[in-house]
Amino acid sequence: MKTWQKGVILVAVPMALQLTFVVLLAVLLNKAEFEAMQEIHSKTIVSMSQRIGSRLSRVPSDLALFAVSKDSNYLHAFNDALTTVPDSLRGLKAMVSHDASQTQTVERVEKLSQELISLATQTKRLIEDDHIDQALSTFKSGKYSQLLSSLDNELKTFRLDDAKERKGKADILYKVREELKAAVAAGVALSILTGILLSIFFARGITRRLGVLTDNSVRLAYGDALNPIISGNDEIAELDRVFHDMANQLAESTRKQRAVIENAMDVICSVYQDGNFVAVNPAAVKVWGYNPDELLGKNITAPIFSDDITETLNTIKDIMVGKSAMTFENRVMRKDGTVVNMLWSAHWSERERSLFCVAHDITERKKYEEQLKRSESRTRTVIEKMPVGVVTITESGVIDSVNPRTESLFSYGQEELIGKPISQLFEVPDCQQPELVLAALMDKAYEKPSELEARRQDNSTFPAEVAFTKYLTDEGLRYLSTIEDVTEQHEIARIKKEFVAMITHDLRTPLTSIRGSLQLALSGGAGELNPAVTKLVTIAERNSTRLLKLVNELLELEKLEAGKLDILPEIVSVNLLIEQSIESVKSFATQSNVKLETQICDGTVTADGDRIVQVLVNLLSNAVKFSPKESTITINVVRIPNWLEFRIIDQGRGIPAAYRTTVFEKFKQVEHGDATKKGGTGLGLPICKGIVEQHGGVISVDSEEGKGSTFWFRLPDAG
Ligand code: ADP
Repeated sequence: MKTWQKGVILVAVPMALQLTFVVLLAVLLNKAEFEAMQEIHSKTIVSMSQRIGSRLSRVPSDLALFAVSKDSNYLHAFNDALTTVPDSLRGLKAMVSHDASQTQTVERVEKLSQELISLATQTKRLIEDDHIDQALSTFKSGKYSQLLSSLDNELKTFRLDDAKERKGKADILYKVREELKAAVAAGVALSILTGILLSIFFARGITRRLGVLTDNSVRLAYGDALNPIISGNDEIAELDRVFHDMANQLAESTRKQRAVIENAMDVICSVYQDGNFVAVNPAAVKVWGYNPDELLGKNITAPIFSDDITETLNTIKDIMVGKSAMTFENRVMRKDGTVVNMLWSAHWSERERSLFCVAHDITERKKYEEQLKRSESRTRTVIEKMPVGVVTITESGVIDSVNPRTESLFSYGQEELIGKPISQLFEVPDCQQPELVLAALMDKAYEKPSELEARRQDNSTFPAEVAFTKYLTDEGLRYLSTIEDVTEQHEIARIKKEFVAMITHDLRTPLTSIRGSLQLALSGGAGELNPAVTKLVTIAERNSTRLLKLVNELLELEKLEAGKLDILPEIVSVNLLIEQSIESVKSFATQSNVKLETQICDGTVTADGDRIVQVLVNLLSNAVKFSPKESTITINVVRIPNWLEFRIIDQGRGIPAAYRTTVFEKFKQVEHGDATKKGGTGLGLPICKGIVEQHGGVISVDSEEGKGSTFWFRLPDAG
């Protein structure tokens, strides 16, 4: 039963009792009132009958006086009886209507009164007619006294009935009064008793259960098992169930907490105000090498590295008075003698008078921090010593840091550059707004070195090779720029240009003429040469040819590097290119006893045909040069997605892995004798590379040493 229902009972039961009691009282009172009414009724009947009797009884005596005196005032009683008695009799009749015997009595009284009034009327008439004697004889005849006596007898019945009734009523009223008293006493006693019983019953039920609740809360506080769940479904039972649930959840969370503490990787401990350990979790074994039991009761200084004890104690004192930060670092000497770095997080509880600590092993972190510091310092030194300028720039184009080389390059002090816009250092043509300079610089030199005009503090400018890249930091995106002063390279280029011009005009022309003269001499144009001279002139002619080739190739390469080699692209047939190339090397191949084989391909490329033939001839000449006698060189062209791939496959000595990239660099040859024995310059492949790349293609070599090489290059497929 719910408490509110019990409350309702507590109020409703006494109320119902009191209501019953009130109803009982009302019934009794009603009864008493009824009896009283009956009495009044009876009295009224008696008084009415008496009034009739007295009115009628006065009629004969007043008539007698009237007869004697003839005074009409003595007719008053007669007239009064004449007018009022019939009404009174009607009233009396109505009042006794419920009682048959009394009704009959009234009817008899009515008859007697009518007889009396009729006799009186006759008498009055006799007196008025002056028959006094006759009238007096009427009185003497005793008729009146007879009628009055009969009337009195009849009216006496009412008095007797009233007396009888009154007696009966007195008994009833007494009884009713006694019943009322008894009912009041019983009602009061019952109400008090019910109130007391109900209060005891409910109070016992509630207080006993509340007692269980109180006991449970004490048990919870001391960690004892709770009382069994209170039965019922009232609020107290519900509260007890909720309390049990709460206790279960609390126990579960305590268990989890304990599991966390016991399985924690960090040492968790509490130290009493005297400095001794009072609790240590099992992590102490792993981190410090001590069993918790070995530390309990020992001073906190026991595991601490001797050099750090004083400072640790001072920090702990500060923490205890709330002065110092709650974290500190120190070193702990493990049981095996090794030292570990610890980061402590400590909290002083005034109530417990204890210090609660979590100690985290930061040895690895410390090591890493040290390494990081060293590496940072190394990086800083490298950047500071770098012979190129290094500038970091924020996302909004503001200079973030510069190295010393940048300061010297631009003649600015570091403090004059940091925080300034990057536009202060570079001239970007067609970009007048400083906030757009960064975007323009990125456009030109992001991850590709580009030449820009750099401006010094004194407004003088210098050519700089600049490259940008970007990286992410904690503070956001940053750009890194390397800046190299290429004034010197420009000077070298200028000198080189002059040198090339000099070679072109001053070396190539006489060389061509020397070779022509030597060839003329050999062909007998200047007369027959004796064998010894022929031999010498042949050597001279061969070397002048080689020298001229070298000069030509050097010039060509120079042009390629300067981007000055004219490329005249047109759609050319692949077959035609191959045909022309084979035509050029055919006699050389025949001389070397090497076979040339080709597979037809119907493709076309958009290229400068002469230049591609030059590449093919160079690769084919190399293949012939390095092929053994009677071997075969295959030329084929295959289509791969978006490209046409030209392949020159020989069965020669192959290219060692270490040379597969370097053979495309200037003057790089696999063997020292390749220049002299094979008449090479080491410039053929770099020229091929330059031409292919100028066509937007790629060139490379696949080779297996001793089994031949496949030199290949790809050109965009023109369909
Ligand atoms: P060179 O005028 O010396 O041939 P190249 O640049 O054309 O100059 O070639 C560079 C070097 O690459 C050669 O000297 C040779 O050592 C090597 N080489 C080129 N082609 C071949 C090949 N087909 N087989 C073996 N070695 C080769």
